[in-house]
Amino acid sequence: MSNDLSKMAAPVKTYKAIVSLGSNLGESAENIRRAAERIGQLPDITPLRLSRIYHSLPALNADQPLFFNAVLLVETSLNPQQLLAQLQKIEQDFGRRRLAGTANTNSVKPSSLLPRTLDLDIIDMEGVVTNTALLTLPHSQALRRDFVVTPLLEIAPHTVLANGTVVNRRMVDCGKVIAVLQDDGQWHRLPNKDGLEHRLPGGDRLEHRLPDDTAVPGEGKLSICATPIGNIKDITLRVLETLRQAHSIYCEDTRVTRRLLAHYDIHKPLVAADEHRLPKLISQIIAQIRQGLRLAYVTDAGTPTISDPGQALIAALRAADIPLEVVPGPSAFTTALVASGIKAQNLYFGGFFPRKAGALRQRLDTLAGLEHTVLVFYESARRAHKSLAVIAEVFPEQQITLARELTKLHEEILSGFAADLAQQITQRLETGGVFKGELVVLIAPLPKHAQR
Ligand code: SAM
Repeated sequence: MSNDLSKMAAPVKTYKAIVSLGSNLGESAENIRRAAERIGQLPDITPLRLSRIYHSLPALNADQPLFFNAVLLVETSLNPQQLLAQLQKIEQDFGRRRLAGTANTNSVKPSSLLPRTLDLDIIDMEGVVTNTALLTLPHSQALRRDFVVTPLLEIAPHTVLANGTVVNRRMVDCGKVIAVLQDDGQWHRLPNKDGLEHRLPGGDRLEHRLPDDTAVPGEGKLSICATPIGNIKDITLRVLETLRQAHSIYCEDTRVTRRLLAHYDIHKPLVAADEHRLPKLISQIIAQIRQGLRLAYVTDAGTPTISDPGQALIAALRAADIPLEVVPGPSAFTTALVASGIKAQNLYFGGFFPRKAGALRQRLDTLAGLEHTVLVFYESARRAHKSLAVIAEVFPEQQITLARELTKLHEEILSGFAADLAQQITQRLETGGVFKGELVVLIAPLPKHAQR
């Protein structure tokens, strides 16, 4: 028996690679499917997953090609160069029959680049959402802004169309290997035709994001998540886990949410959904959940729907029987109530005070008859002394608590009669002090012996 080790077969090394199948230039879904099928038929290549095929432009007119994107995750015993050579054969075969070629903008017929009206949200590499809703682009700009011909390596990873379609990981250079998973678990980006590394959405995090990015029909849902009202640490483990697992996060203000997520090293596409935009996004959210996406919804601070948007969204999802969960957490009014130490049988939460003194007076008058009830309102500290003047008229003998900047550096709880508190604030301001920030106003009921 020979003991010549050099004659023994070397262990077969396997690679995982991401192969881009869709281009951003007129790829058809059918072509993508056929290319994936062909790759799957090659010896030594096992397709692990074809990511969803997304068409990235609604049909503008009948003879306009649709644009499709997809990536195939493969396992192979071929090294990247061999794999590339195999794919290039397929590429050559397919390339000639494509509607608009792969990476050559010159091959797009000028007639297909007429000025057009788009209704798109484009999310860039950093997750910033640009809404190009109904933006009519002149021809030259269409070339640049319309992602059909966005410079190939500057493409947004996630694009959510107004019709609810998610265009995901718009990889470039159809039929090319763009990244290979190395032994150390890192994705190694291969150079593109200009010798630059392919830019991948998610960068080094790509590996972690791949499984997440696959929508599983039937497993989509919306998670309504509470976020801190001041202290960034006031967030539950479950909220963090939910945000980490979400495909995308709908939020009131992307800047606020991005700061929070950055603190926890969470990197997800954000969709701007303030109270004006949210109603228009409901059908998109429903469509995405039906596709199997896990979505999260957060407001700037505290619990969504508590003097915050979100109610109509939740109602619409309930009506459409769409899976929905609430992941609870902080809210300013519960925090203030506890901090106040007020003992009361009942609780009335009134949201924001009406801004006008007359309307506030009217509102408080209607509440004056409530017995054994603590009244809780939101107010801005800036307007506090004006509101206190009205409160003093309706509830002159009741203890008022002002809970300001809760959980923050300058947290302050003040209690007293409304007139005294108003005077205290005025004095403070007159002597150069500050009374600003966010505020909860609590009106304690009269002690039981004083009530009728
Ligand atoms: N969804 C939030 C919640 O669950 O409490 C409330 C959002 S509402 C738009 C904002 C108002 O809540 C502020 O104007 C203020 O009245 C109150 N608020 C929020 N954070 C606060 C804090 N840290 N301290 C005191 N009041 C706060």
